[in-house]
Amino acid sequence: MFLVPKFLVGSGGEIGERNDVKCVALENKLGIHGSPTAVMVYGEVGGARGLLIGEENQGLNAMFVMMNLARFSLGLQGTGIAERACQAAFSYAATRVQGRHTASGGKAVAIIRHPGVRRALLNLKANTHAARNLTYYSASLIDVLGSSASAAERQEAQRLLSFLTPIVKGWVSEMAVDSTNAALQIFGGAGYIEETGVAQLVRDARITTIYEGTTTIQANDLVHRKVIGDKGAVFALMAKKVMDTALRLQASPAPRLCRAGAQLAVALSQVTAATDWIVKQGEDRIESVLAVAETYLEACGRLFGGWRLLHAASLAQGGTAAFRCSPSLTDELEACSSYFADWQLSQVDGLSSAVMQAGASVTDAGFLFEEAVHRLNPAA
Ligand SMILES: Cc1cc2nc3c(=O)[nH]c(=O)nc-3n(C[C@H](O)[C@H](O)[C@H](O)COP(=O)(O)OP(=O)(O)OC[C@H]3O[C@@H](n4cnc5c(N)ncnc54)[C@H](O)[C@@H]3O)c2cc1C
Repeated sequence: MFLVPKFLVGSGGEIGERNDVKCVALENKLGIHGSPTAVMVYGEVGGARGLLIGEENQGLNAMFVMMNLARFSLGLQGTGIAERACQAAFSYAATRVQGRHTASGGKAVAIIRHPGVRRALLNLKANTHAARNLTYYSASLIDVLGSSASAAERQEAQRLLSFLTPIVKGWVSEMAVDSTNAALQIFGGAGYIEETGVAQLVRDARITTIYEGTTTIQANDLVHRKVIGDKGAVFALMAKKVMDTALRLQASPAPRLCRAGAQLAVALSQVTAATDWIVKQGEDRIESVLAVAETYLEACGRLFGGWRLLHAASLAQGGTAAFRCSPSLTDELEACSSYFADWQLSQVDGLSSAVMQAGASVTDAGFLFEEAVHRLNPAA
């Protein structure tokens, strides 16, 4: 891995001649126009000079230090864009008057009073809370890595962080794309018009599922290296933490959290079954497993995102000295937890079943893809 400066620097620190590197174009992109992406050309004239970073032939390892941080940061970027989409959608829905009140049939009301719009808004809010809590949990593991005096604690934090990184990157970025789309839908036709600003969020979110490794690449990493690679051991460690929360919630005095705790335990058992299946099939049917890796990542995102959201709601509800929430945030977290369990966690059943069933159909359909390669690119 090399650092290639624009100007070469002399031994005394003085700026020397221009290096043989130049930017020949800026890309015309779908979004993130505030962050130019450039086409760089090196060594056209006589050879660009670069400074080796780290050790020779260790560049990929060194690059992955940056890459893992970037993947985690994309969880933050996705959360931030989803939060902005959520705020914009709430503001618009509260002010846009369209249609009559469903129950009374009376006067025209703001669209935030329609049940379908409310479900979509709650989905935005609950998903954003879940993503934020999962991402912050990963950030806390980075803190443990950098500050704990206990080697065992640091080692566990490293294992958990390594397992969660593809989930934070993959699931949160996909959630951000879904959230910005849902926000635009709440804006209706106005969302399609640039001046409302929500179209920009849709465009800006889209790249998060692509750069620093696409969602499929995150899913392959999760399944191959993080699950099959250690025979499900880190998943089992995470599962124990999720079960502790589920049991604690089931003893909660708040009926909605108590019920959500039971739903969390059910979702955990479903993802555990899918994980066991992956570990088993990984031995000799890896093609079928990788075909459904993204679906498994999504099931994990919902499970672990839901876990952190429910955990936050139970802390808020408990109201300890170390963790005190305003009554309105406590109510919001409880409502979001209850919804997340009813909507997102209940679908984990279907996702887990799909993981265990759909891979074989993809493998069986191999002839469709081979025909395309044969016709278009027989050498590949
Ligand atoms: C705005 C922008 C900024 C960028 N900035 C940088 C940067 O600063 N530095 C940098 O190095 N790169 C940068 N990139 C590149 C970016 O990281 C890649 O575009 C991204 O990792 C995807 O790689 P690719 O484009 O080669 O797609 P491909 O690898 O060709 O992937 C195409 C499709 O095939 C799938 N696929 C590919 N391989 C596999 C596999 N093994 N298994 C299953 N599916 C697979 C992918 O999921 C995807 O759906 C940037 C890209 C963009 C658009």
